[in-house]
Amino acid sequence: MSVENMTVTTIFDKSQEGRKGLNLPVLDVEAKTTLDSSLLRKEKAKLPQLSEFDVVRHFTNLSNKNMAIDKNFYPLGSCTMKYNPKIAERVAGLEGFSSIHPHVITNNMNEDVQGILETVDMLEKNLCEVTGMKKFTTTPQAGAHGEMLGIMMIDKYHRSKGNKRKYIIVPDSSHGTNPATATMVGYEVITIKSDANGGMDFDDYCAKMNEDVAAVMLTVPNTLGLYNPRIKQLCEVAHKYDALMYYDGANMNAIMGVARPGDIGFDVIHINVHKTFATPHGGGGPGSGPVGVSEKLMEFLPDLGIKKVNDIYEFTTGGKNSIGKISPFFGNYGISLRAITYMTTLGGNGMYNTSSKAVLNANYILNRLKDYFDVPFGNKCMHECVISAKTLAKGGVTAMDIAKYLLDFGMHAPTVYFPLIVKEAIMIEPTETENKQTLDLFCDTMIDAVNLAKKAPADFQHYPKTLGVCRPDDTMAIKNLNVRYEQ
Ligand SMILES: *Cc1c(COP(=O)(O)O)cnc(C)c1O
Repeated sequence: MSVENMTVTTIFDKSQEGRKGLNLPVLDVEAKTTLDSSLLRKEKAKLPQLSEFDVVRHFTNLSNKNMAIDKNFYPLGSCTMKYNPKIAERVAGLEGFSSIHPHVITNNMNEDVQGILETVDMLEKNLCEVTGMKKFTTTPQAGAHGEMLGIMMIDKYHRSKGNKRKYIIVPDSSHGTNPATATMVGYEVITIKSDANGGMDFDDYCAKMNEDVAAVMLTVPNTLGLYNPRIKQLCEVAHKYDALMYYDGANMNAIMGVARPGDIGFDVIHINVHKTFATPHGGGGPGSGPVGVSEKLMEFLPDLGIKKVNDIYEFTTGGKNSIGKISPFFGNYGISLRAITYMTTLGGNGMYNTSSKAVLNANYILNRLKDYFDVPFGNKCMHECVISAKTLAKGGVTAMDIAKYLLDFGMHAPTVYFPLIVKEAIMIEPTETENKQTLDLFCDTMIDAVNLAKKAPADFQHYPKTLGVCRPDDTMAIKNLNVRYEQ
């Protein structure tokens, strides 16, 4: 079925003249308005008329059409769709946190928000502890926003020394936001190819490094789910030329409690707390991308921080070298609260166990599937694994076909066709919150798909069969989405 033909029963279709979900008392004062009659409606607004029960049932059914982490296995690589404990929602919803007016901050009424500032301080300190960085700001509102801040600070670092640099190095496996960020801040991107082990080619890296390179941006573990054993050396080479090391820590699920980017030699890091530290995300919902810096970049941190003076938290603005404001108030504070709740609930050992289990789960899947798919970079991985449907595709069944097949079995598809350097890539991130039965069900379904692909490849054109829409044109579905109701 094409998208153009897809019909949805809207709440307007269910409307019945005169049906109500609300009874108001009879009017006992004169009905009168001071508005000019030209401003008044001539006819009644066309609102749907339903009972409360009709409305509840309508929206409950609509919500059930969503794929969601609370309903389905969601192994979307690079996105860390893990279970988000409900205690984090409880805390973020507490009246004292959720009802405070943001302008309390700009009016410098800090005595009214000491508890809030304490949680900001706790999060900054916890993130420093987990990453080994000197100082964090929680103001960036997404991962990509954090990257932008990080590279702007690096830019200012070089300028403050009187030398504007030209290039930023990224590996060809990098997350797309890395070269995009470098370009937006005004740098040219030097791309280094991956070697046979999936790491950045070391010799080529050394050859391309020079005094015009401002920074090296690395996603760690990289998008192939691999940790580069030469990472310390990469930092040393960059630092010889005073190029700074940027750690894309959007996905900390493999290394929290295990290794610390600051100890390895990185100068700046952003963390997607909405991936690693418990926030339901996806569909463009709010995120938060705190940024941590080493000593070298402290003076460039953005406006709005806190410090404790005589046991009282005070607001601070950036110093004379601050890059200025990047976000109103303390960013998406509700996300910070969820993160601090999650971290405090787990504790240090809990974080270590979380990473260990995330890595174990990904390796379990890789090893159950390795004989059925192409495996581009060995039998071991970190928190996610990348396999490929290259051989299957020769018989007519592509990575996209496998992804569509899975939908009929109540699972979200893994990330496909990314990273770009793997043909027919399928990138699977199970996360630590899934049990063995779920992982086995997923692997069994993937293996069934491979067997079916060999026997009856043509069948794959018809999946998914159960979801109302089968194969919309992906581009048109985004660019020409028409959700307007015509009465
Ligand atoms: C998700 C992700 C980002 C971007 O984060 P947003 O919050 O979506 O802006 C950057 N890098 C990596 C490796 C990611 O997985």
